[in-house]
Amino acid sequence: MYLGKNAAKPRVVIIGGGFGGVNLGRKLKNADVDVVMLDKHNYHTFQPLLYQVAIGAIESDAVGFPIRRIFTHQKNFSFHMAEVQKIDPVSNTVTTTLGAVHYDYLVIATGANSNFFGNKEIEHYTLPMKNLPEALNIRSLILQNLEKAAVTTDLAERDALLTFVVVGGGPTGVELSGALAEVQRNMLCKDYPDLHPEHMKVYLAEGKPKLIASMSEQASTKAKEFLIDMGVTIYNDVHVTSYNGDILKIDNGVEIKTRNVFWAAGVKGEVPEGIPQEVILRGARIETNEISQVKGFTNIFAIGDVAAMITADSPQGHPGVAPVAIQQGAHLAKNIVRLIRNEPTEPFKYHDKGSMATIGRNRAVADLGKIRFQGTFAWFVWLFVHILSLAGFSNKLVVFSNWLINYFTKNTDNRLIVHYFNTETMTTEPMAK
Ligand SMILES: Cc1cc2nc3c(=O)[nH]c(=O)nc-3n(C[C@H](O)[C@H](O)[C@H](O)COP(=O)(O)OP(=O)(O)OC[C@H]3O[C@@H](n4cnc5c(N)ncnc54)[C@H](O)[C@@H]3O)c2cc1C
Repeated sequence: MYLGKNAAKPRVVIIGGGFGGVNLGRKLKNADVDVVMLDKHNYHTFQPLLYQVAIGAIESDAVGFPIRRIFTHQKNFSFHMAEVQKIDPVSNTVTTTLGAVHYDYLVIATGANSNFFGNKEIEHYTLPMKNLPEALNIRSLILQNLEKAAVTTDLAERDALLTFVVVGGGPTGVELSGALAEVQRNMLCKDYPDLHPEHMKVYLAEGKPKLIASMSEQASTKAKEFLIDMGVTIYNDVHVTSYNGDILKIDNGVEIKTRNVFWAAGVKGEVPEGIPQEVILRGARIETNEISQVKGFTNIFAIGDVAAMITADSPQGHPGVAPVAIQQGAHLAKNIVRLIRNEPTEPFKYHDKGSMATIGRNRAVADLGKIRFQGTFAWFVWLFVHILSLAGFSNKLVVFSNWLINYFTKNTDNRLIVHYFNTETMTTEPMAK
């Protein structure tokens, strides 16, 4: 066994160093427990800015932060870079790539992954953007295809290389298609004199009648208006039915020849093996009660994107956003301490402070409670909130300086093709020396 039972203190094992796991770990700082965090990456990812990495607007390292560094001064905490393969609730152990780890309390904070709804062809040929390596794949593909488009003499191929389709019109899809439109408007003509902005096309396909359906009607309408103004072609109320690496087909009859399809159309919980099927609900989310306890267990909990806390207040669970994960992490820390002391626990209550999405330079939409605003002011609020939310002072500084330079130059600097993205295998390869 890699980490056996520790008789001195109860061990809280947290799977996942995302927003939920990190906040839970921090809030257990003064508790009389041993906190063990397991994550397959050695860093915490700030997912809301992944699309900025994908288009080269900010440095990739700036959206990640080493988990060990977050907890440097926390005496009751240890981190192990390991993938959890299986949970065994009978022996209270998790099987990991390092070996078995014993837990007294287990918290599943594994987040969500892309959902391709069973379509293997789409899964193979489209690029998702749920983590840093995936954002870097998108960056490589965009830059490689711009380079290819600049030299090809085959005009149909040039158009396919310069056609970008984003599938999914939630906040991620809207932000990514807006960012691509900015590449077209600002960067293309400056750095690729052989290409003309009119050669590049950006499409956004969304299954619902409106974009960013989770926000107000006002925000949704304005986001669409902004995108159309920036030259994005939007299809609402449609489903992408196939993509074979060459032609993308939509159920409204439209067919698009493209070499770039980005998938932001659905998510499903990242549920480790060992959790009974009957507690895994729609979207592969684990059913929990109001204190995040997985249904049927007393010492296993789930928080954040992987959890569906089903209560009278939240019959469908909470939205898959960072504040839910952060608040559930903090709340669970208090309840774990109460459980250890045999004190009554308190139910979780979500405080929704609102949501924002940015579409492009000086264009954002914000719903903060009853206050709704759009445009330049919303964009500055969005910038400010995201800088403040980043982990680590150095990341805040890097992102701020990247944005400042981008703002004045109307260009992006983080455009190195460090890994070659192979569009046949859909994997990255080292560049030739
Ligand atoms: C592109 C994008 C943009 C977003 N924009 C916003 C936004 O603007 N505002 C907002 O509020 N929310 C946004 N979200 C959603 C937000 O990021 C999530 O709601 C939040 O990250 C959920 O936190 P979490 O702790 O549940 O999971 P995550 O933050 O996803 O963390 C899960 C962690 O678990 C680890 N892990 C998973 N499986 C295993 C395993 N088997 N073994 C070991 N480790 C494992 C992963 O490596 C990861 O570190 C965005 C998400 C994406 C993808």
